[in-house]
Amino acid sequence: MNLPTESLKQDMITWRHDIHKYPELGFNEIRTCKLVAQLLTSFGLKVYESFGKTAVVAHLEKNKNKKLIAIRADMDALPIKEKTSLHYQSQNTNIMHACGHDGHTATLLGTAKFLSEDESFDGNILFVFQPDEENGGGARVMIKNGLFEQFKISEIYALHNMPGMPVGYFATRENTITGSESAFEIEVQSKGGHSALPNMGGDALLTASQIVNSLQTIVSRKVDPRKNAVFSITEFKTNGKKNILASKANLKGDTRCLDEETKLVIQYELKKICNGIAAANNAICSVKFETNFPITINSPIPTKRITKCLKDKFGDKRVESNCEPMLFSEDFSFMAAQVPGCFILIGNGTSGANAKPLHSPYFDFNDDILTLGSSAWVHLAKM
Ligand SMILES: [Zn+2]
Ligand SMILES: [Zn+2]
Repeated sequence: MNLPTESLKQDMITWRHDIHKYPELGFNEIRTCKLVAQLLTSFGLKVYESFGKTAVVAHLEKNKNKKLIAIRADMDALPIKEKTSLHYQSQNTNIMHACGHDGHTATLLGTAKFLSEDESFDGNILFVFQPDEENGGGARVMIKNGLFEQFKISEIYALHNMPGMPVGYFATRENTITGSESAFEIEVQSKGGHSALPNMGGDALLTASQIVNSLQTIVSRKVDPRKNAVFSITEFKTNGKKNILASKANLKGDTRCLDEETKLVIQYELKKICNGIAAANNAICSVKFETNFPITINSPIPTKRITKCLKDKFGDKRVESNCEPMLFSEDFSFMAAQVPGCFILIGNGTSGANAKPLHSPYFDFNDDILTLGSSAWVHLAKM
């Protein structure tokens, strides 16, 4: 049997549109989880729903002597109001599958259906459907609930669609494939006071403004210029009012980079700058820094295996085996830190909704790549 079969393609499209129409946020994928579990059960697979909240796992074991390969898909959507006008547009207010996790889920469901019906398949596969990728909670919960203890997984794989990359193309790389994401919160406290008497008070707004500007020197002046990093402040709130100086200012933001050392430099400089500027202004400052997503590291063995598999299946020219690392983050990083793993990118197309950036209200996963993704997984499973 060889993918794609026309009926399986139609099934995957139907499932994807259905999931797209009823998107659910992280850890609230109740309908999606139910649909996924029902389908996996109907394929005759052993289904587990014990790995945390809305996680679903299915095990296909044909040969106990062979190693167990896990493939992970994410199921959660985003708090975005969809503007695509598609016939299967989101029916859930202000929630949208704007990252293509509907497509990742449908791709893995298609793979599960195909392999469970394929009598020539004699390997072992674990289909891992995880909740809450966007907030970095799903993989952690599944690990905490014993996914890697209950199943002796040898290698784990995942894919993500890439808008702007042509259909039929794949990319990956050994070592760092996606960056770390750390969130920070800064609170500046000052005396406040009358806007006409600033000399007698303290202005948290002005102090925080100096902090905002100075923090931009971390990437330009403290990080090794050969390294990659991005630092963004995305929120600035104060309790100041008309003619009242702010006594409190709160800043929030995030920073991403591709290696641990750079992250430590950013964390150290962030605290130093905040405390230094606060002290110079007679203010007090507190800084919280938390890494929600570590760097995703692709291990050599699974990366070589999937690269060979993709090149065999789609041709050398369609597989970039040493792509640039991405500065977005992925909670697959937690799973790939448990066992050797590989994260791959699949082209989502170069025009229309398929080329809109991830998390855009105009984005859509490309139905034409459902069979490409599932063919890649099937080929990997049978290698
Ligand atoms: Zn996303
Ligand atoms: Zn995503």
